[in-house]
Amino acid sequence: MQHLLLRTIAAMVLVGCGKNRDAAEHDHWGEITTQHAAFYAASDVPRSQIDLTRKWYEIASNAWGNYGPLEFWIIGTDEIAAATLDKRYCELRNQKDISLSMEHCLNRDHNFVSYAKGGSAGLNTRRNENEQWSGFIITMSAKFPSPQEEDYKPVVLHEYFHVYQHAHIHSKNYSERTSRNLENPWWSEGGAEYMAQLLYSRQNGVRPHYLREIMEGKLRALKDLRAGENIKDIAYGERSHIAYDLGAWFIAFIIHKSGEEAYRVGFFKDLNAKGFEGAFVENFGASSHDLLDEFHKTFLKLSLAEQLKIIP
Ligand SMILES: [Zn+2]
Repeated sequence: MQHLLLRTIAAMVLVGCGKNRDAAEHDHWGEITTQHAAFYAASDVPRSQIDLTRKWYEIASNAWGNYGPLEFWIIGTDEIAAATLDKRYCELRNQKDISLSMEHCLNRDHNFVSYAKGGSAGLNTRRNENEQWSGFIITMSAKFPSPQEEDYKPVVLHEYFHVYQHAHIHSKNYSERTSRNLENPWWSEGGAEYMAQLLYSRQNGVRPHYLREIMEGKLRALKDLRAGENIKDIAYGERSHIAYDLGAWFIAFIIHKSGEEAYRVGFFKDLNAKGFEGAFVENFGASSHDLLDEFHKTFLKLSLAEQLKIIP
């Protein structure tokens, strides 16, 4: 599945003269909240799609904890309806942070009209030193995936796992945040993808071999991995599918070795205090360099039958 990468862009939307922030206001970032996500939809989006999105958000937040503030914006295919929703979105942004200009917001890359045209889903995490409002914005659309496709459901879970990842990074400093979530997609996308598919596979009515089928499909990316290439060196862009797919396998590999709790809970609990590598060693018992090495040189060389044994 294709994701528009909005995180980085959002971090750079630094407009206006944001000074004298209300430092007295307590920062609840990363705490579990009872406040549920808000849903906004373009006028051509059917009620059923909003309900479907809400249902899978609830499954994700029940499994991993409810974090926020979180907004879902759902776009249809009607570009005029998308433009109208863009306006509402920018008014809301300006209302939450007066220093954000409407014009700048409306002219942003990947506005809702671009989702009406191109489809896809994305998460925009807003948390930086220049904006007053910190929070998560998930955009869903009518295609890639469409709400009729099964993939729509794990995609909602995937985007929500990104919320979980970012909720566990407290800093407002861009480079500190990046050092904990990493610049290249293998870690964060691999994690979001594997955890989404794992959680989806456990839901009632999902066929028994779903997860193995999906994970077997992801191994097709192996043919695009160059000799001696490490997934950690693949950037977002043309070849990022390799990092998404084999990254998901790397998370499965880690969970097989250290347990789901070590990855999903332990690592993220230690991430602020210990940083990426510190939390990694603490919870997985080896450096990321060594485990990546073993993954490439040993695990990826096994037969398909041997590889699939680690998938529950
Ligand atoms: Zn993603």
